[in-house]
Amino acid sequence: MAESNDTGDRGAAENALSGSPTPRRADDPEARALRGGAESAAGSEGDGAPSPRLRTDFVRAQVEEDNRTGLYGGRVHTRFPPEPNGFLHIGHSKSICLNFGIAEEYGGACNLRFDDTNPETEDMAYVRAAEKDIRWLGFEWDGLFFASDYFEQLYDFAETLIRKGKAYVDSLTEEEIREHRGTVTEPGRPSPYRVRSVEENLDLFRRMRAGEYEDGAHVLRAKIDMASPNMIMRDPVLYRIRHASHYRTADEWCIYPLYDFTHCLSDALEDITHSVCTLEFENNRELYDWVLDEVGYTDPRPHQYEFNRLNLDYTVTSKRKLIPLVEEGRVSGWDDPRMSTLAAFRRRGVTPEAIRAFCDMIGVVKSDSREDLAKLEYAIRDDLNRKAPRVMGVLEPLRVVVTTFPDEETDWLDAPYYPRDVPLEGSRKVPFTREILIERSDFQEDPPKGWRRLAPGWEVRLRYGYVIECEEVVKDDSGRVVELRCSHDPGSRGGSAPDGRKIKGTIHWVSADHALPAEVRLYDRLFTEPDPQAGPEGTDLSDFVNPESLVVAAGARLEPSIAEDDPDTRYQFERLGYFWRDPVDSTADALVFNRIVTLRDTWAKRATQVPEPTAPTKRTEGGTAPRTEAGASRRPSPPTLGPEGQARFDRFRGELGVSHDDARGLAANPVLSRYLDEAVDAGAPAPAAARWLVNELLREAKDTPLESLPVSGVNVAELLSLVADGTLSVGIAREVFADMVGGGGRPFDIVERRGLRQISDDDALSPLIATVVDEHPDEVRRYREGKSALLGFFVGKVMRGSGGKANPERVRALLARALEEV
Ligand code: ATP
Ligand code: MG
Repeated sequence: MAESNDTGDRGAAENALSGSPTPRRADDPEARALRGGAESAAGSEGDGAPSPRLRTDFVRAQVEEDNRTGLYGGRVHTRFPPEPNGFLHIGHSKSICLNFGIAEEYGGACNLRFDDTNPETEDMAYVRAAEKDIRWLGFEWDGLFFASDYFEQLYDFAETLIRKGKAYVDSLTEEEIREHRGTVTEPGRPSPYRVRSVEENLDLFRRMRAGEYEDGAHVLRAKIDMASPNMIMRDPVLYRIRHASHYRTADEWCIYPLYDFTHCLSDALEDITHSVCTLEFENNRELYDWVLDEVGYTDPRPHQYEFNRLNLDYTVTSKRKLIPLVEEGRVSGWDDPRMSTLAAFRRRGVTPEAIRAFCDMIGVVKSDSREDLAKLEYAIRDDLNRKAPRVMGVLEPLRVVVTTFPDEETDWLDAPYYPRDVPLEGSRKVPFTREILIERSDFQEDPPKGWRRLAPGWEVRLRYGYVIECEEVVKDDSGRVVELRCSHDPGSRGGSAPDGRKIKGTIHWVSADHALPAEVRLYDRLFTEPDPQAGPEGTDLSDFVNPESLVVAAGARLEPSIAEDDPDTRYQFERLGYFWRDPVDSTADALVFNRIVTLRDTWAKRATQVPEPTAPTKRTEGGTAPRTEAGASRRPSPPTLGPEGQARFDRFRGELGVSHDDARGLAANPVLSRYLDEAVDAGAPAPAAARWLVNELLREAKDTPLESLPVSGVNVAELLSLVADGTLSVGIAREVFADMVGGGGRPFDIVERRGLRQISDDDALSPLIATVVDEHPDEVRRYREGKSALLGFFVGKVMRGSGGKANPERVRALLARALEEV
């Protein structure tokens, strides 16, 4: 976990921040695009201080109405009620900003209440993590409560209902209760136990509490209306029997109240005024009011209001669905900077101000919506743009020898930290020496039309430095460019040519002698699908993990000035994006930087532009990134397809159902197009084959011409069939693919040779499972005491033990059995 940044932005730049933040210029196209729509204009937030709101919403309107009528005597009391069953995510930040924000704005109070009525999944570690996240966002609660503290009172309320004839003990099974409930078009049928007397109900309920019955033997139900058009009102279950140990109340209870019963009463016990929740609970409001009425709460009592939850493209906002990504090692942990948790945003370097600005921007309404990820990224950039000093770093270095510059000499150049439109001051010295490093992608031997960077015989300006001209290209035996020899114009120190000649491009660079080595982690969206949660329950999200969500530039070099800075400083690396030191892995001797966000919305532009100087190397899936030297990542960038390409594009889209981007990428390249046709002829599903060709083949090919690679469409089809039949996991298939491209051979043979088959065989898995179980006696004990959430911990250990080869579903099943038997 990131321990070091609790107070958020403490960077050197921020310390220099004076006065109010710069408003974005009205002509900024990104700002304009994002501002559109009635719901998206909002007050901008500065350095933590709440700002007056330009816009209100229906919840605030309700608060104002209640203040006007005096319903609560002017009191405003909200609460944020997470269940401690996972880490808080970006979706929660909307609810946090709303609840704490309202309390702040109206001089009220906001409680933090852990809604912890599910013994199986909850844990103190999640409580601590949530507290940390809320404070990091900049909020402090007035009261800290746990629903589990109310168990005794809730029990008394339940007896009250029974005595009033408003609740009964039902002994139908869960299945039978469901059947009796009816459908939206048919009324439900009463349970035969609905007629039990008050005395019998009280007796049974007390014996339920005393532990006389097995799980599922009885439940307590409200007695409302089995024919209600609102299905929730058809005698909802209020209590169930669960012989499980709770993380706070241990074994004190074996009956646990359900959400609908617990929530409204917890609100009432805390004197909450406005209980805001998300729209899925709209139908539960009737029950919320019913319970409070029947128990005897009259106005002024809490009322529930529902707002639209935050759904964000390419992002998962469900704790439950995030858990498997952590457990199966798809990410390095809850705080893996690609995750949607607040812990991950914090570690990545996003500021709390940016998240609050985003929550403000998206607004609070009464109908469901989805947000474009570009909005969040805009908020992050907008915040960093005003704070981050600009420095230089090179992700994939190419050596340049400035032959006309004296050896041994260092020219210390003046370089301001901020551009003119950021009202901050400061500068540092940047050393210029005979050997410098530039971005490999800033040189092309055979530049396309419109190229503005370096090429043989071309001039380019080095930022803050001199104009250089490329005179010689040095290659190694394999033909790879390893060095450029350039001359410099001594009169151009600081940037402009003395004779006034026009220099088209400016590139970033560092001194080879002075630069600091660093690993730079380039993060991108974790999923390839805009709505990864859309699939049916149980869909494996790992199928949608973006293979390029983490690219590591292991051999990056950064300007030396950063060694002097506060480690919390967020920078703009010129032309590359915003970065900061990874608070967990970076050390003074081994710098690790995270890319917080790119400079522009690279996804919107990818299809049409000459690629930006992006980086190198290798994607990784799990937490440990392989450290490899760079090899430029190539993405097809086909602005125009030509008639043949267009025909191929139409066919891939129309006949084969390939996605738009992949079809473009393939159609622009005849060799790739042929591979796709071969793969489809050999039985591969076209969309999947296309994705592999565009993403994997191009990456693995690096600089080698495609036609000289030992790959064929038939091999791609074979690989896909190995994934489809479960022989290979997707992660392992990528390794096989890399081998295919590197050394040739059929996937089937590579799998056999390297022993990569996914292990689904119980006999093979059992020893691994036994080892893991033996090595963790404490966890086994806690699991057996009822901490069934620990199953994921064990699955993760076995997966790692197998080098990722074990079949996670089998592991889960076998472990569940093994743990019962210990
Ligand atoms: P998850 O599926 O992630 O567990 P949840 O709604 O079950 O989500 P809780 O811990 O019960 O999570 O949520 C605490 C509060 O946060 C609730 O009031 C809930 O409505 C709110 N919340 C959760 N997710 C979102 C979201 N995506 N947008 C806005 N509010 C949310
Ligand atoms: Mg919940």
